[in-house]
Amino acid sequence: MRSLQTAQEQVLDTVSALPATAHPLADCLGLVAAEDVRAGHHIPPFDNSAMDGYAVRAADIVNTPVELQVLEDVPAGSVPTQSVVTGSAIKIMTGAPMPAGADAVVRVEDTQADGDVVTIRVGVPAGASVRRAGGDIRAGSTVVTAGTRLGPNHLGVLASVGTAHPLVYRRPTVAVLSTGDEIVPYETEQLTPGQIRGTNGLVLVSLLQQLGATVLDLGIVGDDADELRAALARAATEADAIVTSGGVSMGEYDLVKAVLTDLGGVEFWQVAMQPGKPFAFGIIDGTPLFGLPGNPVSVFVAFEQFVRPALLHMMGSPNLFRPRVLGVLEEEVDTNPEKTVFIRVSLSWQGSIPHARPSGGQDSNVLSALASADALAVIPVGSDRVAAGSEVELEMFRYPEDHGLTGE
Ligand code: AMP
Ligand code: MG
Repeated sequence: MRSLQTAQEQVLDTVSALPATAHPLADCLGLVAAEDVRAGHHIPPFDNSAMDGYAVRAADIVNTPVELQVLEDVPAGSVPTQSVVTGSAIKIMTGAPMPAGADAVVRVEDTQADGDVVTIRVGVPAGASVRRAGGDIRAGSTVVTAGTRLGPNHLGVLASVGTAHPLVYRRPTVAVLSTGDEIVPYETEQLTPGQIRGTNGLVLVSLLQQLGATVLDLGIVGDDADELRAALARAATEADAIVTSGGVSMGEYDLVKAVLTDLGGVEFWQVAMQPGKPFAFGIIDGTPLFGLPGNPVSVFVAFEQFVRPALLHMMGSPNLFRPRVLGVLEEEVDTNPEKTVFIRVSLSWQGSIPHARPSGGQDSNVLSALASADALAVIPVGSDRVAAGSEVELEMFRYPEDHGLTGE
């Protein structure tokens, strides 16, 4: 049996980053920048007003109230045609370019307009309510560094500097297929004895979508070696990685195992983790294959520990593992000293400290306890019991959407 860490290292050593391509920015969410991106110009590109008001010379409004002659009106998107000279002002809207001669903006609330004349009631110093060119981003500075996984705000910054096709690592296509004679499509209305609705396929497709992969859903593959070989051949040709569920357990007579063994390149591992001990990994026709166990909780845990980091690696990310946070275990749990044990826990927050409680049955088939969990509590090899009140490491896969604060 190999340790979880050894198994993870072996997987990560086998897969490599996909090629980088210039890709349309609108389709870059979740992809990883393959190079630093520098701004070609200042942001903001020009000095502009931070307020709706009047562009003035600060020296003119030291003593208030004072009347100034309004020369023109500059809405955002227009440019001033005149300069502010002593005794004058230009009406300006937020985001409009500062007129020459003006060095401050007085907000409209602090003024009183009457025809071409405005009374400034409150003095402001030079620079007030002016956003300087380059005040946000200097021309030539790095706005996104290589290795950044692009989120909505990175896309916004890239848009602001006009990077419409950033160089990013290609989005992986991942084929998903479920196996098992007892598994029928979840849409099946009437189950016959012995059948269950397949859940792994949909869970895997969703996890992959969340990661930013393109999914090739190959559905459920039945009890037929030719059908399975054909599905795997298609997957290896069309996808960058293959994820299967079921049929990799130790000692079991199983079609998947037989076909994978025949194809070569795939090894069957026993990983010292719970759940998710049996795991098949290898390369089929140049394409990495992750053979996950069939039990739904094992599928999730093995996805989190192997598939997610490997795909992030293929996507060019330097950050492969979820950060762990420390929390307090509220209930004693028995664990297995031989294995890294993942306890499905739900969290309650006392201030910023998560308090963890097993979210239900811990057997590897109990998907409902996973649905009500927020995190995996990671119990390292070597402990057989963790006392209530102990500090535990938590791999968070769901964050609270509401902190329960009512506001004061
Ligand atoms: P296996 O690893 O093929 O021995 O499957 C282990 C357990 O997981 C069995 O109880 C299967 O019925 C169950 N299982 C396998 N595939 C799926 C699936 N796609 N959805 C839900 N349960 C599954
Ligand atoms: Mg099976």
